[in-house]
Amino acid sequence: MALFRERDGRRLHVKSRLMGESLVSKTLIDSLDIAPQQRLFPDVNILKIGGQSICDRGIKALPQVIKEIAANKKKHRMLLVTGGGTRSRHIYAIGLELGMPTGIIAKFGSSISEQNALLVSMLLSPCGGIKIGHDEIVKLPTYFTQGCIPVMHGMPPYDYFAIPPAKGRIPIHRTDVGTIILADLIGAKSCIFIKDEKGLYTDDPKKNPAAKFIPRIGVKQLLKKDLDDLIIERPCLEILQNSEVINQIQIINGLERGTITKALNGEKVGTVIYKE
Ligand code: ADP
Ligand code: MG
Repeated sequence: MALFRERDGRRLHVKSRLMGESLVSKTLIDSLDIAPQQRLFPDVNILKIGGQSICDRGIKALPQVIKEIAANKKKHRMLLVTGGGTRSRHIYAIGLELGMPTGIIAKFGSSISEQNALLVSMLLSPCGGIKIGHDEIVKLPTYFTQGCIPVMHGMPPYDYFAIPPAKGRIPIHRTDVGTIILADLIGAKSCIFIKDEKGLYTDDPKKNPAAKFIPRIGVKQLLKKDLDDLIIERPCLEILQNSEVINQIQIINGLERGTITKALNGEKVGTVIYKE
């Protein structure tokens, strides 16, 4: 970046490709020649432990999931992310009926997913579980060198600045979105959602027994289906499609023993949604 002096000789400027641009122009964005995104931590697997689907089941689900994760520590580097679950939904419902704005609802979601990060990290502490904040992402290599399994809360830190959605005031960027953005940020090896169903179906299998299982589907194909309900938050699809470093996400059933290990080993299990 060259420095240059204005003609009247008084002011110095830093010459760059973006100088004087609004950064809004479509033509500018199309014409920009940028380096491909670096994968910062390509050996790290991101595992999201569902709030409603896993954490809220308490002793009936969490110890087994923790045990399986701990058993994979020597073979795989893992960064855990937690959802909020039923307690988030409870405070969302109260906040919404009292007229709270999206940013307040999002802030509620952050603190509850953080409770679950605390819970998971404490359960994992005998095996190196350590609760970290968003700023600690840059310290991941140190945690892994020391044999830790870092655990982070999944709600993305938009908090009071959560984008008001087109309808209603439930923030659309919640803990699934936080997980996939994190996977993109670090250029993760894999992005695995541990939930309580085999994977994606044509409809919620808890409500519709005729729903059909989908083992593998592309983002565009899935968007085209315009399903009424999904097993992951809707904006995850667009984020995956736009990612330069993440090619797929996997959704697995953490209630079934062995699925986490299979997913970490790259085996076909659950549903894979891939970038097209
Ligand atoms: P988490 O607690 O991990 O965020 P959620 O409860 O928010 O999980 O989402 C997972 C749930 O989504 C499943 O347990 C299932 O009942 C429901 N669901 C809704 N639509 C679908 C679908 N099309 N396929 C599979 N599950 C679905
Ligand atoms: Mg959810």
